[in-house]
Amino acid sequence: MLIDCHVHLNNYDEERERSVRDVAHDLFEAMAANEVGHAVVLTSYKVTPHRPHVETVLETVGDDPRLTVVEGIRWRADRERTDLFNLEERVRAGRVKGIKLYPGYDRYPINDPSLESFFRLAAKCDIPVMIHTGDTYAKGAKVRQAHPLLVDDVAVDFPDVKLVMCHLGNPWFLDAAQVLYKNDNVFADISGLTLGDFSAEFERYTLQRVREMIHYMGDPSRQLMFGTDWPLVGMKSYIKFFQSLELGPEERDNIAWRTAAQLFKIDVTRLPGTPPLTQPTA
Ligand SMILES: [Zn+2]
Repeated sequence: MLIDCHVHLNNYDEERERSVRDVAHDLFEAMAANEVGHAVVLTSYKVTPHRPHVETVLETVGDDPRLTVVEGIRWRADRERTDLFNLEERVRAGRVKGIKLYPGYDRYPINDPSLESFFRLAAKCDIPVMIHTGDTYAKGAKVRQAHPLLVDDVAVDFPDVKLVMCHLGNPWFLDAAQVLYKNDNVFADISGLTLGDFSAEFERYTLQRVREMIHYMGDPSRQLMFGTDWPLVGMKSYIKFFQSLELGPEERDNIAWRTAAQLFKIDVTRLPGTPPLTQPTA
């Protein structure tokens, strides 16, 4: 059983017009083909014809039991910045189950003092804050602002907020491992470490990096979560990568779904492939 804790309903092929419903249809197909029972959808830090507003995503797929929606924050833009009041309403109504910050892309560092309101809201409502860490691909983004070591500042200043480092801080894997090892309130997803499918050579390289992290952390399974970054990444190739990490059965189950189920409060009794009496223990 698998929970993919990091997918998008953006249309990255901008040559072709696609609605949220079209992309969601492809997502459900990919999930079914790969036996992924639940996915966490992260909305973007910007709204364009190819990147839907969180309200559009909620209206289209908000009631689907296969999905959890996490709201991407737009913070440094001149217009259409995220309205905190509206965000809090969506969180309190249980429609949005987490916050996603995009440092570097949205031109602020992770430890920017102006983000305090988001961390306070997350603590008050007990929702996780997901943070893009590491490589931004986009040339217009400032990668230093997304360095995983900056997450430590936030983890220490807000010990009652659960933080998720997306992408393991790629390529600063050991910096991310240090932040995880030191802070019980920091989690990470293994998503987005390639684009498309892994080549054999790059898969070997990346497995080595992630195994080093796991070795350094000792017990990684309480804090790491399976995620892909679909549709930027092929689900099948990513599951093969995950399986190649050679984890023990308990560790593997925690990373595959238990930790995510607990963090995002996903009702696992509704997922296919779950034994009815199993509760999250991670
Ligand atoms: Zn992503």
